[in-house]
Amino acid sequence: MAGQLGFPFARPPIGRASRTAGRGAAGLVPRVSPAAVRVPDPRQIEVPVAFPAGSPQIFVHEGARQALERRLQQASPCPVVLAVTDNRRQMISCSKRDGVVRARLHHMFLDAPPMVQEALAAYLVHQDRTASQLVGQYIHDSGHRIRAYRPIATKLRTKGARHDLLGLFRRVNDAYFGGTVDALITWGRKSPRRVSGARRTIKLGSYSATERLIRIHPALDRAWVPGYFVSYVIYHEMLHHVIPASQSVPRVLHPPVFQARERGFRDFDRAMAWEREHVARLLQG
Ligand SMILES: [Zn+2]
Repeated sequence: MAGQLGFPFARPPIGRASRTAGRGAAGLVPRVSPAAVRVPDPRQIEVPVAFPAGSPQIFVHEGARQALERRLQQASPCPVVLAVTDNRRQMISCSKRDGVVRARLHHMFLDAPPMVQEALAAYLVHQDRTASQLVGQYIHDSGHRIRAYRPIATKLRTKGARHDLLGLFRRVNDAYFGGTVDALITWGRKSPRRVSGARRTIKLGSYSATERLIRIHPALDRAWVPGYFVSYVIYHEMLHHVIPASQSVPRVLHPPVFQARERGFRDFDRAMAWEREHVARLLQG
C-alpha cells in the first residue's frame, strides 16, 4: 500500500424529524430559527471514542475502534494504527510510514456489517476493486451519518431560564453516545402569545438533518419540567441524528431499532409517565 487512498464525499439526505406530544396534525407550532454555537466543534478534532463505564451499548466506542483495528491488522502484513474521524469529505485515508499502516476512517465504519469491514480491509491492504465498490456503496448508504455542512445563520440559545440545554446534551452524549454526537442544539423560538385556548399539539423537540440541529420547545424551560424529561427529549432527537428514517414510503421515523434504543434511556418509563401526566399543562403553553 502506498500513498493516500480517498473516498468521495457522500451528500447527506435532507430530512426533518420531530417528537410531537398531544394530538392532531403536527406543525401547528411555527418553525424555529436556525442558529450558531457548535456543540462541540468537531472540525479539526478526531472523535473521542472513550467508552463511558457502565453505559449501555453505544453507537461508537473504544471497543469498536479496537475491534476494527484488529480486523484490519489481520489482513495486513504490517502493524495497523486506526484513528477514527468525523470528517465531512475524506471518509477513508491511509498511509504507510516507518512500516506502520495508519488508517483514518469515518466512524460509520465502526459498526459496519462484517462484510463491509472485510471489504474495507481488502480495499486498504490490496486496493481490491470489488471491495472498493462495496465500501463505496456503504459510504453512499451512510450519508446521513456524515456531518452536515450547511452554515447556521442565526444565534443558538442553549441557556434557558431553567434548563441548560448544552449541559444536558453533553451529559446525554457522554452517557449514551460516547461523546460522539456532534449535533447542535438550541431552544426553539417562542411562539406568539396565544389568543384563545390551548394548542392541540406541541412539538417538544425536532431534529433537522440538514442543519444537524436539535430544537427544543421553550415550553420545556420551566421549573416544573424535570431535567430528566428534557434530557429524554434531547436523547430522542439525538437518536434521529444517528438512526435514519427508513427509506420506504411512507417513511418510518421511528423504526424498531429506534424504539429499542429509545427504551434504553435510563429514565424512559419515568419520562413517559411524566409526559402523560403533564401533556395538558404543556399544551397550555
Ligand atoms: Zn422522533
